[in-house]
Amino acid sequence: MDKPSESGSLDGETCENTASSQRSPVDMPRIERAVREILAAVGEDPDREGLLETPARVARMYAELFSGLHEDPRIHLEKYFTEKYDEVVLVRDISFNSMCEHHMLPFSGKAHIGYVPKGKVVGLSKLARVVEVVSRRPQVQERMTETIANLLIDELDVKGVAVVIEASHSCMTIRGVRKPGSLCVTSAMKGLFRSNESSRSEVMKLIYGG
Ligand SMILES: [Zn+2]
Repeated sequence: MDKPSESGSLDGETCENTASSQRSPVDMPRIERAVREILAAVGEDPDREGLLETPARVARMYAELFSGLHEDPRIHLEKYFTEKYDEVVLVRDISFNSMCEHHMLPFSGKAHIGYVPKGKVVGLSKLARVVEVVSRRPQVQERMTETIANLLIDELDVKGVAVVIEASHSCMTIRGVRKPGSLCVTSAMKGLFRSNESSRSEVMKLIYGG
């Protein structure tokens, strides 16, 4: 799947991207040249005062927004606790921002992750970490949903995983059909959430209430 990288130090709770911007694997000058080029192409003057710093700023921004390309989300699932709990664990409303790979415009929303453990339980914040890493890549929501579900299935040895993501896509709200307020919902059901309808409806009730 995705290339792991030397990001083992990102495991702590103070995970900011200061370190990764110092030895960033991203080619910053290349982004700067490209942004200058876009500005010129749309009819702007890249040398006017207000735009002088823009290419460098955008380069730093992309390095941050796409930092998940150089991180392995699996490191967040390595530590687990042995628990006899075998009911649904649900973390709801994990907010995220990602970037639509078709338009390079942001989409943002909430992820809900439920799973039924088979003896191994992870820290709840680790699920949010996984969402964070996977969302910081050029992305489509469908793949993001599937990727997160597969990570949990592969790394945790669970009885079932349910991932539901709802997001608003700026490529739909500010351009094209321009439908502000529209929400895209995707779900990936694995294991017993796929095979067992009552488990599936249980987790959906937990997510949406009622
Ligand atoms: Zn798009």
